[in-house]
Amino acid sequence: MARILLVEDNEMNRDMLSRRLNRRGFEVLIAEDGGLAVSMTRAERPDLVLMDMSLPVIDGWEATRQLKADPETASIPIIALTAHAMASDREQAMDAGCDDYDSKPVNLPRLLGKIDALLARDGGDSGSS
Ligand code: MN
Repeated sequence: MARILLVEDNEMNRDMLSRRLNRRGFEVLIAEDGGLAVSMTRAERPDLVLMDMSLPVIDGWEATRQLKADPETASIPIIALTAHAMASDREQAMDAGCDDYDSKPVNLPRLLGKIDALLARDGGDSGSS
């Protein structure tokens, strides 16, 4: 089953989302700040990263830039999560190299659709649609 690194500094959001992803059968790794997001992605090579953008140490945009600039981790899909559903957030996330974007509070069916599409793309399955 796919391994997801969940990067979220808010404990309540983190616990809730990790439980819900667990229930859907994902193995969930946790990072609580942007520095850990980078080091854990390098060490653990998750299949996908769910990246909160507002994080301590380094923010999600900078963590994404670092991971996408590193050939070892550049191909790992990153979905940005922000609390504001603003068009500028989406643009900023895509500019930083995120593969997709979603807003909080999380709509789980919608987020799962985006996760599945990216995992299918990277797994070399029949291709995303
Ligand atoms: Mn946050």
